[in-house]
Amino acid sequence: MQSIQAFYPQLSSPKKVIITTHQKPDGDAMGSSLGLFHFLTQLGHSVTVISPTNWAGFLKWMPGANMVVDFECSKEEATRLIEEAELLFCLDFNVLHRTKHMEAVLAELHCTKILIDHHEQPQENYFTYGVSNTAKSSTSEMVFDVIVESGFSDKIDTNIAECLYTGVMTDTGSFRFPSTTAKVHRMVAQLKETGFNHTLVHENIYDSFLENRVRFIGYCLLNRLEVLYEYNTAIMAITKNDLLRFYIRTGDTEGLVNQLLTVQGIKLGALVIDRDEERKWSFRSKGNFDVNTFARQHFEGGGHFNAAGGRTNDSLDATVWKFKKVIKQYEEQLQQS
Ligand code: 5GP
Ligand code: MN
Repeated sequence: MQSIQAFYPQLSSPKKVIITTHQKPDGDAMGSSLGLFHFLTQLGHSVTVISPTNWAGFLKWMPGANMVVDFECSKEEATRLIEEAELLFCLDFNVLHRTKHMEAVLAELHCTKILIDHHEQPQENYFTYGVSNTAKSSTSEMVFDVIVESGFSDKIDTNIAECLYTGVMTDTGSFRFPSTTAKVHRMVAQLKETGFNHTLVHENIYDSFLENRVRFIGYCLLNRLEVLYEYNTAIMAITKNDLLRFYIRTGDTEGLVNQLLTVQGIKLGALVIDRDEERKWSFRSKGNFDVNTFARQHFEGGGHFNAAGGRTNDSLDATVWKFKKVIKQYEEQLQQS
């Protein structure tokens, strides 16, 4: 993979471009993709954002979201677009299996591929150019850097600002995680100067749930939370029936795992959800507990130092049992303050 700076000269000649991201895109995946979409469109490229799957309702207000192609819904059209692309941008993921069923199409592709991502351990051999930086708050911050570094800061309009703000806000827990550097705040100041309404962005993302989702969170906290004080760990296992009972849709479980870390003294939060095709884990930690390595070693996953995910084909009970067995190895580390 060559550095992204080596790619910048190609920005000025219009091309057929595809931007894609990880399955079930979150605020940063969608924000960075749409931010880049608006930027490249302004430069005269012909751009389509393709998501491997559907996305949360609370992201649908974003400028350009109505033009995003859902690969699972429009497989033929999306495959044709990908195969015709001259440039493929991969944002907010760095291993092909994060694109679910799109993986097979992407693996066969021979166009120029560009990575912009902040996760650990990129699959570098796949990409022609790229930037991978785990110190970055968000992929949205990295898209901002690309725009500025390539000499196009004057292109940042309210659409780009709104999208990038959404990404950095959601990935930093509203500007509170350690990744929120002074540079992030300076970027936000620059975005804000375009005049977008940040209060509305917060409301669209965080105050837009249906009643059933709010009750679902209450139900989970009351009935599904287990605190393992000897390991400073909180765990929550959501059954298929819970999802059915509260009509849970894509995005409704977003943020639930963060609730686990609100218990005093808890260093590790682990949420597992019984999805149709797999049991999906989300891990969050505070301080020096590395959930990226933990997820990689025990649950076929990865992510960041303090936020990672994983998966398994085991049953819900079996994977919870495994988790409880595995954390015994980390007892000492989890007990340190
Ligand atoms: P979440 O728990 O919000 O789904 O994911 C937390 C972080 O870990 C995100 O940055 C996400 O991209 C990453 N992540 C989630 N699941 C997986 C996985 O199965 N494999 C890898 N490599 N990363 C994951
Ligand atoms: Mn991200």
